[in-house]
Amino acid sequence: MNNKIPVAVLGATGLVGQRLVRRLENHPWFELVAVTGSERSVGRPYGEMVNWRLPGDPPTSAAALTVQPSKPGLDARLCFSALPGKVAAEVEPTLAAAGHVLSSNASTFRMAPDVPLILPEVNAEHLPLVHKQAQRGWKGFVVTNANCVAIPLALSLKPLDDAFGVEQLFVVSMQAISGAGYPGVAALDIVDNVIPYIGGEEPKIESEPRKMLGTLVDDTIVDAPFRVSAQANRVASRDGHMLCVSVKLRRRATPEEAMAAMHEYRGRPQLLSLPSAAPQPLVVRMEADRPQPSRDRDTAGGMAVTVGRVRECPLFDLKYVALGHNTEGGAAGAALLNGELLAAEGYLD
Ligand code: NAP
Repeated sequence: MNNKIPVAVLGATGLVGQRLVRRLENHPWFELVAVTGSERSVGRPYGEMVNWRLPGDPPTSAAALTVQPSKPGLDARLCFSALPGKVAAEVEPTLAAAGHVLSSNASTFRMAPDVPLILPEVNAEHLPLVHKQAQRGWKGFVVTNANCVAIPLALSLKPLDDAFGVEQLFVVSMQAISGAGYPGVAALDIVDNVIPYIGGEEPKIESEPRKMLGTLVDDTIVDAPFRVSAQANRVASRDGHMLCVSVKLRRRATPEEAMAAMHEYRGRPQLLSLPSAAPQPLVVRMEADRPQPSRDRDTAGGMAVTVGRVRECPLFDLKYVALGHNTEGGAAGAALLNGELLAAEGYLD
């Protein structure tokens, strides 16, 4: 008998779901007891149905689980959702109504006024918003993590906003192929190419950081007042989204002051020593040619954001490059960290 909290992964055969399954192997607090998939997979062993895209084989204990439909009755109160948005729109409310707690990657409920959009290093204090979901008649609740560009962007902005105030920013993203799920973008479309459009991405990058850096007043999130302009591009790297950011501050800061604020920044996960937290959430590199996706995306197991090229901007105040692992810290790891935060803060009791 162990005292671990039983958990489920919804959409466990997908790219994000697989990383969640791998992260849950030997997790100190959670035990994976259920996996779900589409009709294609239901009723079959996970190890048979998953097209495992990570090195090695699926964890033995997960491979033996039978894939279940994403319906109430799963033997786990806490469910990590890696479902496509349209499926999440149907499935997540049904599960939450039945008393399950959802930590979701899907974009469906991120901007709902009663759903916290949590990046534990940035806005753990928004969690009490879940109590408002009782008004939907739900016995459980949904917590979401942000878009895989919005996460490294918000994390890099947080120490700047705290110390100097962010007024406006311009961000250009170069996003990895795995951001489109599996099989993602066709090789003939992306090899030797850059695609200057990712459907639905720019509005998410422009809105989600403002919610995360916003303030919980009574039971409403007041968005942070800064403005964001985003341009999103798909590039031919496998994993790791890179962002070129130019930011205007309310109080001027030198690149050295900005780097010190980022380097020293620690959030609630570090304070609580959550098992999946990066010891240092923002890693500042001084080399002229870093960060790079293939060299920096796995920093702290993909849970840290690497920042480099912090310098003065002739148009705004500062510019820098930030890199985050889109399917780890930007998705699977983000959902898991939210689950750990919920457990540590007593939301699963
Ligand atoms: P994916 O590789 O396409 O995987 C989708 C998963 O959903 C598969 O496990 C699939 O199961 C399952 N599924 C599809 N229809 C279903 C249904 N009707 N009922 C139950 N399960 C169903 O997608 P992904 O990249 O892992 O993304 C998952 C979610 O995370 C999406 O909401 C995405 O927007 C979000 N997200 C992704 C990233 C990223 O970088 N990839 C980053 C942040 C957030 P079968 O294999 O059994 O068909």
